[in-house]
Amino acid sequence: MCVFCKIVKGELPAKVVYEDDKVMAFHDINPQAPIHILVIPKKHIPTLNDISEKDKELIGHIFTVIKEIAKEAGIDQSGYRVLVNCNRDGGQEVFHLHFHLLGGKPLGPMVCS
Ligand code: AMP
Ligand code: ZN
Repeated sequence: MCVFCKIVKGELPAKVVYEDDKVMAFHDINPQAPIHILVIPKKHIPTLNDISEKDKELIGHIFTVIKEIAKEAGIDQSGYRVLVNCNRDGGQEVFHLHFHLLGGKPLGPMVCS
């Protein structure tokens, strides 16, 4: 079972900030910004490539959750970045689809290093 599925099942601890029947959000263990939250579908979808037509509602729901979490964290007006890494060149490390929500400071330009 993947690390995020273990978090969903409560088998690994996480600082959970949001949960409903389809989605979970928790603090990244290695934050890259003052606010760094991961928003995931509870269902195991390995990569963005694996999103299907039947997941459209779920993906839309994730974005409504993201903007609510951003508001709750007080960064909706200052601004934030949402990103998804996919596969090797995208730098994906955990193969369970997740959306990084980053903010709490000026994040600067997008950097590809
Ligand atoms: P990615 O490179 O897009 O696959 O990002 C994976 C992210 O998951 C990284 O930012 C890690 O710090 C984070 N991460 C890995 N394991 C955990 C964990 N157990 N709890 C919270 N975040 C994690
Ligand atoms: Zn998983």
